[in-house]
Amino acid sequence: MKRCRALLNNLELTLESPNSAKRIAITNQYAYHPSLQFPRFLFSQFALLHLLSDEFPHRVRTNFLVDAEIKSIIDAMYASMKKRPPVFAVPNDHRHFRTYPRTNPERVAIAYSGGKDSMWNLMRAEKQYGMDNVLVIHIHGLNKGAGSEELAYTKLQQEKIGFRNLKVISIKNSAGVGGHNVMRSRDIFLAGIAIPEALAFGASKIMIEGFSETSPDEPFSGQEKNMIFFNHVLGRLHIPVRIDWENKNEMDVMKELVLERPEWVTYVCNCFLNPLFRRGQRPRWHTYAPSFPLLDSQCGSCVKCRITNLGRLLYDPAMAAVKKEDVEYFLKSCVLWYQKKIQTHADMIAGSFRRELITALEKYDLAHLISAVVTAGPVRNQRAV
Ligand SMILES: [Zn+2]
Repeated sequence: MKRCRALLNNLELTLESPNSAKRIAITNQYAYHPSLQFPRFLFSQFALLHLLSDEFPHRVRTNFLVDAEIKSIIDAMYASMKKRPPVFAVPNDHRHFRTYPRTNPERVAIAYSGGKDSMWNLMRAEKQYGMDNVLVIHIHGLNKGAGSEELAYTKLQQEKIGFRNLKVISIKNSAGVGGHNVMRSRDIFLAGIAIPEALAFGASKIMIEGFSETSPDEPFSGQEKNMIFFNHVLGRLHIPVRIDWENKNEMDVMKELVLERPEWVTYVCNCFLNPLFRRGQRPRWHTYAPSFPLLDSQCGSCVKCRITNLGRLLYDPAMAAVKKEDVEYFLKSCVLWYQKKIQTHADMIAGSFRRELITALEKYDLAHLISAVVTAGPVRNQRAV
């Protein structure tokens, strides 16, 4: 796509080209600000970034200002795909926001999906700031597959864990980016549109998932250096919020959650498998490992479920009730699965999962299977071990 028009109408942004129109809109009540001007401005900037990340048009005419700082992120995103920076034709609009809400260093927000990393952030935020100073922000509608389930689990977690402050931002999204390519812009977009809600709450930070086991060839917004860059941009825009993360391995996140908040883990929503296919997987586990309890949200077989269940097996005292043969079934299944998946999922399993799988094989008298793990496939992501 060479040329297109980006049209902002309140909290709806449409990217029009001769052949298509893609749209992102916020459909529910959005954060406060006098006249909504500031949230609308932020929405326009980050929705533009996200819509451009599909076809990378060369020329973009807009009916709103594109801030030079935001353009620097858009340019960097284009450069990550080896594209020339786009040329913008923008209206002569010199909007400047001279007053910003104040934020409190003792209040934080969490960009929250309902998965284990969200829960781990909630745990560390609760410990450091107290639950009343934590705002959970769930963005609903971007992930078309698992969207409603994540929202349902976030609400269930609110009820069971008892956090008071929850904001749901509902999005309607017809952006064309699909699959893993969504990571070119997704995490910056999500953090960006969470900012107005964080400001309304007085939060000085938005916690996101860390980067410890991300691949070196992860798309633009999944790279830690680009989130650092984004924080510099927020500083230059005088926005008193920073994106915050801690790099902790998948299994260490799981271990801390199981040890410190075992009752929360019951409600984790992490499964990669579509709920329809999940129904096909669960009976297998009930048949071959009947005393190994799957969580309600789990298929038991995907990478996320295996990470969660390995953590539960190793660190949750309640798992002592699982029969020895069922533990063996789970671990042997993990070894076979590891040998197969290491080729395609090395970034997720060659680090802490591999380490903890070996620990479990030792602990449960299956040390003779360790060599099958050690010799399986390439270990590309050595830094995460
Ligand atoms: Zn699963």
